[in-house]
Amino acid sequence: MSLLDVHRERAVIALGSNLGDREATLRSAGLDIAATSALNVVAASGLFETPALTLDGVDESAPAYLNAVVIVETALAPIAMLERLNEIEDEHGRVREVRWGDRTLDLDLIAYGELTLSTSRLTLPHPRAHERDFVLVPWLQADPDAALPGFGRVHDLLARMPAGGVTPIAAAPLLPGSVGES
Ligand code: ADP
Ligand code: MG
Repeated sequence: MSLLDVHRERAVIALGSNLGDREATLRSAGLDIAATSALNVVAASGLFETPALTLDGVDESAPAYLNAVVIVETALAPIAMLERLNEIEDEHGRVREVRWGDRTLDLDLIAYGELTLSTSRLTLPHPRAHERDFVLVPWLQADPDAALPGFGRVHDLLARMPAGGVTPIAAAPLLPGSVGES
């Protein structure tokens, strides 16, 4: 290791949108992530559609979500990374009102290396990732060996969950040439 080496962690970002032109928003947010010099995209999933989940459960009357996952390597600290993700949300007109309410863009930091952390602003891994098929299904597509710190392999987590409503939509990968790692 030389003095020029920077410690990098692998981090997993989940993207979701259920308002407006959802596909355009996710693709644009994916490009914003890729254009962030401190975030190097390693892999990205395709796009998946999922019925809206609210605090009251699945809401078939609310607009459905499009979801995707992007895996990056970064030298940013976790909070700095969350701040950058919040900036990208804001650039896409995200208004923070109802928790779990409809939104043009939601960017969640799902995992950051093996780190576990619980502060008022950031919990790692994301506290609900293990039970969210709309996070796990795209993540597994982007990385067949994915593992959630504290919960084990994503493949095994999904195998223990009831078959959900996460449907791949016929569309190009979120970022060109990046479904799964080669
Ligand atoms: P959710 O993503 O659960 O639907 P919000 O996007 O409204 O909810 O985020 C609520 C808060 O969750 C944010 O203010 C953020 O600081 C906090 N938060 C805690 N841990 C994370 C994480 N791992 N990724 C993203 N936000 C997080
Ligand atoms: Mg969020």
